[in-house]
Amino acid sequence: MYEVTIIKSFSAAHVLENIGGKCEELHGHNFTAEVTVAAPKLNPAGLLIDFRLLKKWLAEILEDIDHKYLNTLPSFAEINPSAENIAKYISEKMEAEAKKASVKVIKVKVWESENAAVTYIPDNN
Ligand SMILES: [Zn+2]
Repeated sequence: MYEVTIIKSFSAAHVLENIGGKCEELHGHNFTAEVTVAAPKLNPAGLLIDFRLLKKWLAEILEDIDHKYLNTLPSFAEINPSAENIAKYISEKMEAEAKKASVKVIKVKVWESENAAVTYIPDNN
């Protein structure tokens, strides 16, 4: 099995309801998203997948949430835009693209600060 990981940062604001404390107030983070895909075999060029393709998909996904107030987006209308839910959101969008390239998203890690991160592991593994 091979894994490839890419990393990209984005900025966004959110309010986390029902958790108590300062995070219930509007605030922002410089998030970092790490996406890992995997597959058992390499392509004829000796790559799991071209980094450029993965970076393109992630850039497109993050474009929709970068510099946004996440609570106002339809995807987070019913759920808190926590780092956990953001990781799942990114994972599901990446998986839709990854499937076409015969790779699986196995992990999405979202860093909310330089010393706090959450990891979402999709059920498809
Ligand atoms: Zn926060």
